[in-house]
Amino acid sequence: MNTFSIAIHGGAGTLVKGMMTPEKEIAYKQALQKALDRGYALLEEGGTAVDAVEKAVKALEDSHLFNAGKGAVFTANETHEMDASIMDGKTLEAGAVSLITGIKNPISLARDVMEKSEHVFLAGEGAMQFAKATGYELEKSDYFYDELRHQQWLAIKDTDNFQLDHSVKKGSKFGTVGAVACDKNGNIAAATSTGGMTNKKWGRVGDSPMIGAGNYANNKTCAVSCTGSGEFFIRGVVAYDVSCLMEYKGLSLEEASNEVINKRILEIGGDGGLIVVDAQGNISMPFNTEGMYRGLKTSRGLDRILIYKE
Ligand code: ASP
Repeated sequence: MNTFSIAIHGGAGTLVKGMMTPEKEIAYKQALQKALDRGYALLEEGGTAVDAVEKAVKALEDSHLFNAGKGAVFTANETHEMDASIMDGKTLEAGAVSLITGIKNPISLARDVMEKSEHVFLAGEGAMQFAKATGYELEKSDYFYDELRHQQWLAIKDTDNFQLDHSVKKGSKFGTVGAVACDKNGNIAAATSTGGMTNKKWGRVGDSPMIGAGNYANNKTCAVSCTGSGEFFIRGVVAYDVSCLMEYKGLSLEEASNEVINKRILEIGGDGGLIVVDAQGNISMPFNTEGMYRGLKTSRGLDRILIYKE
């Protein structure tokens, strides 16, 4: 039987070490472990990689600690506009949504775009019409209200500033979420979900819902979910770049992901990290920020939740 494994992230914008309290650390680690265990249990029962990444990301979206679903950041208009994408490495099918509001689990809507529409990427009003047609109920805006998130937004509203969760200097502490998995049949998948940037406007969309930039999966190479400064991750076509370095240059998972995160993205001024798995169940989780909320669990017995560099 193939080694099966799953990795998750809760964003590369962790609290700086000095600001992390034992209580907060426990809360983050528990939320990550819950998501990891849910995805892993599904793989153990013989579920597909696509099922596992959706399940893990849903658990992270349901936690107010992360910038996705329930904990999504506020836009300049004091609303929440969320983005998500999912890709199946076996079929190369993909689904993505952006600028959606009121949807509890954006990752499930992205999956429905993949499986129930003829399209890959639906945005804004049209994506909401698709959600209604597919039977989604909308959450009221107070479901997405989080006091700390609101404070973050109040601090910069009415300015032209928009703030990434990765601005650790400003003490922000939330992040985009993602999962990658390899199932018992050696199929891999990736899923990513985010609220984007605090105080964003003009329909700003980051890398997270863009296939090839923030999310990518191909059984031949790897499945990748990114977190970081979206504008740079789009320009670096980061997730696909990792896959290309493996496919065209023959680099290993570890080499390709390190080349992109610790060299190429830094050279163009970006910061962040990614999680990546291959069809043998190997995992790599590089980041160039102080920390990245992350975890991995494999059928070879690894089970770890990490925040800072080891
Ligand atoms: N990459 C996301 C974006 O730019 C942000 C994040 O990773 O936290 O929307």
